Amino acid sequence: MVDLAAQRTRLGDRLDGAIARVLDHGRFVNGPEVGDLERALEDLCGARHAIGCGSGTDALVMVLMAVGIGPGDAVFVPAFTFAATASAVVLCGATPVFVDVFEDTFDLDADSLEAAVSAVRGEGTLEPRAVIPVDLFGQPADYASINDIAERWGLFVLADAAQSLGAEGKLGRVGTMGGATATSFFPSKPLACYGEGGAVFTEDDELADLLRSIRSHGEGAARYEHARLGLNARLDTVQAAVLLEKLRIFPDELAARDRIAARYGDALRGHVRVPSVRTGSTSAWAQYTIIVRDRDAMMERLADAGVASAVHYPKPLNRQPVFAVYQTGPGGVPVSEALASSVLSLPMHPYLDERAQDRVISAVLDASG
Ligand SMILES: *Cc1c(COP(=O)(O)O)cnc(C)c1O
Repeated sequence: MVDLAAQRTRLGDRLDGAIARVLDHGRFVNGPEVGDLERALEDLCGARHAIGCGSGTDALVMVLMAVGIGPGDAVFVPAFTFAATASAVVLCGATPVFVDVFEDTFDLDADSLEAAVSAVRGEGTLEPRAVIPVDLFGQPADYASINDIAERWGLFVLADAAQSLGAEGKLGRVGTMGGATATSFFPSKPLACYGEGGAVFTEDDELADLLRSIRSHGEGAARYEHARLGLNARLDTVQAAVLLEKLRIFPDELAARDRIAARYGDALRGHVRVPSVRTGSTSAWAQYTIIVRDRDAMMERLADAGVASAVHYPKPLNRQPVFAVYQTGPGGVPVSEALASSVLSLPMHPYLDERAQDRVISAVLDASG
């Protein structure tokens, strides 16, 4: 599905040099590369603050902690996403409420959100506090509509941009569109490190200070003075050094992903349902995910042709044993349920050459014919 070796070859000696410098200076935590990366990420996104952290999950948890989300609070989460979006809520003691998504763009459906917030408010047992829109597969969610609903109901908007760093929505670049934005540098994400890593973006100075404290044991102004509950959620220096090198080629890689997506789309449209990108938006194409009628048969045919495929994600979160106790909005999440049994992700990475793309295309066409 991804080719980390081709990228490694392209980066060559620069990467070894960057890692060797960290081994030499020995500041494995809070080394200078972490600050350099944060400044580079701020430039990439046009965001006021970028705060490196240990993972995308840490990024989500840190923001919820900083905003003071906890027991008795409802946090609205799409049912069709990776588990960490909802885990972060539960880890903070709050209650996720599952909301449906759009069928063609896979992201949070604003009407479903509004109905769920209204229902929770009406029940009166939980306090609606936040929403976590997810930029699933790389395209920013519809923040214009979501921010509007959030403002009316007094919700904090935490953007889960684990899959969309580098993309742009109608309101601006990823990293600037919610109250805070969480991203991940896990090896399968568009901008990936060689281990675990993540970052939070925000325009809010006070929130940024809180996040820097929370990621480092809740430290106050002085060393060994702990102002608040915190985590050990720092981004380590070796990963920051790796990411600084990868950032140099990131715009070029995003352009390559976009070319491949366009080529897939031109060839496959009309044969299977291909992903659509809203006018005025771009996608970071973390995944290229199609909708098929008989997924098991398609996967088998692709495997026979030597083409990799994967299911993101086979169950909506409300069907996961760990989250089954939590409610959905009124009417359930029928689109999420349907997508879970019909989505299929095809190989997508910047080093997929045209011959490899053609193999994927003809295998899909053969199997859908
Ligand atoms: C990967 C991912 C996360 C979690 O990121 P980690 O760095 O793996 O903790 C959260 N949300 C979504 C949508 C993701 O894809």
